[in-house]
Amino acid sequence: MAPYIAAAKKLGIAIKIASHGEHSLVNEIAEGIHINLDSTEAAVNTIVSSSAKYNFCGIVAADDKATEIVAKAAKALNLPHNPPDAVHLTRWKHKARKVLEQAGLPVPRHWVATFSDIRKDKLPDISFPCVIKPLNLSASRGVIRCNNEKELKEAAERVSKIVENQNEVDSKSKALIESFIPGKEVALEAILQQGKLVPIAMFDKPDPLNGPYFEETYYVTPSRLTRSQQHKITLTIESACAAYGLTTGPVHAELRINGDELYIIEIAARTIGGECAKLVEFASNRSLESIVIEYAMGINADTISLETAAGVMMMPTPRSGVLRRVEGVLNAQSVKNIKSVNLAIREGHELIALPEGASYLGFIFATAETPEAVESALRSAHDKLNIVVDPLWKIGGNISAGLENSGIT
Ligand code: ADP
Repeated sequence: MAPYIAAAKKLGIAIKIASHGEHSLVNEIAEGIHINLDSTEAAVNTIVSSSAKYNFCGIVAADDKATEIVAKAAKALNLPHNPPDAVHLTRWKHKARKVLEQAGLPVPRHWVATFSDIRKDKLPDISFPCVIKPLNLSASRGVIRCNNEKELKEAAERVSKIVENQNEVDSKSKALIESFIPGKEVALEAILQQGKLVPIAMFDKPDPLNGPYFEETYYVTPSRLTRSQQHKITLTIESACAAYGLTTGPVHAELRINGDELYIIEIAARTIGGECAKLVEFASNRSLESIVIEYAMGINADTISLETAAGVMMMPTPRSGVLRRVEGVLNAQSVKNIKSVNLAIREGHELIALPEGASYLGFIFATAETPEAVESALRSAHDKLNIVVDPLWKIGGNISAGLENSGIT
C-alpha cells in the first residue's frame, strides 16, 4: 500500500485506501474506506456507495486478492476496468489453464484431483515429475515438485493442510497437478492498454528453479534472452490476456522456456507487487505504481523504457523458526552497485518457510550497466549475509517439528 500512497502524493492525486485495516497505524489506511475482503459483493457495494462522497476517477488493486473487487467496483462506476470474469480466471489456476489450452496457447499438461481421491490412489494418468499446487494461492505457497507417486501423496497431504482454511469448497478440496517443465524462467511486467500489451520490463530468473519448492530469489532486467525470444514471449502473453478477456491495467506473467517451447506458468492482473516493484523506479525513474494509477484513470502513458539494468534478490526464508538476527547487512550494502538491502521481517518474528509460508526475509536491490553486473552484485551481497534462525517452541505444539527445523546458518 505504501508505494501507492507515495506515488499518488508525487502525482498530486488524492487517494482513498479501501482495506480492512481500520486499526492500522498508517493514517491513510485507518482513515480510509473499510471493506471486508472476504466478501467480494459487500466490498464492492461499500466502494461503490462511497464514490458518491469521494467521486473516484480510477481504482487500482494493490494485491491479488483485491483484483476481482476492483474490477467489479470500477465496472459499476464506469471507470477503466477489466471484465470481472477475466480477472476471476487469473485467480483460479485450473480455470485459467483450461481457457488457455482451449485457445491453443502453450500450458503444461495438467489435471485436477481431489485430496480425497489422491489419498485413495485414484490418480489421473499423471506423468512425472509433476508439480502440485493449490487452485488459488499465490507467491509459490503450496507449490511442490513431486518425482513419483509417493512424493505426490505426501505433497498432497501438505497442500491440503495449507488450504484447509480457505473459504471456497473447491480450493480446500482440490489441487492442480501439472507436468514439471524444466528450463529457464522469465517474468514479464506489462500494462494492458485497450487489449494491447505494453511491456515495462522482462526479468530473467537466473537461479535454476527445480524445486521441490520454488522461491523466487533473483529477478534481473533487461532479460538476456534474444530479441526474438522476448518478442515471442510478449506476443504469447498478449494472446493469453486476450483469451482470458483482460483488456486494461497491470499484468505480471511468468513463463518457462524449454528448448524452443514456451510454457505459460502464470498470468496475474496486477503488478509484481510489494517491494519488488521498486525495480522499475530504480531503472526508469518512474514508479510502477504511478504508471498503474495513471492507467486506472484512463491516461495512456508512453512506452516505458528502463535506462539501466536492475535486479532484486528476494531473500528466501532459510527455515521455519524465529528470526534472531541478520548479520552482515552493512557489508552487503557496501558491495558495488547495491542500491539497498531492506529487511522485511523484524528480529523475534516467526518465520515460516515455503511451501507453508510465503514471506521473504527481505530484498536486496542493485542497478548497474549490465544485467551480468547486477546479478554478480546481488550474489556477492547475499553471500555476505548470515541469517540466524532459532527453533520455535510452541506450547502444546509439535516439539519434534521444532527440532527438525532448528539450526543456525
Ligand atoms: P503462484 O501463483 O503461487 O506463484 P505458480 O503457479 O506461479 O504459483 O508457481 C510458482 C512457481 O513454481 C513458478 O514460478 C515456477 O518456478 C514453479 N512452477 C509452477 N508450475 C510449474 C510447472 N508446471 N513446471 C515447472 N515449474 C513450475
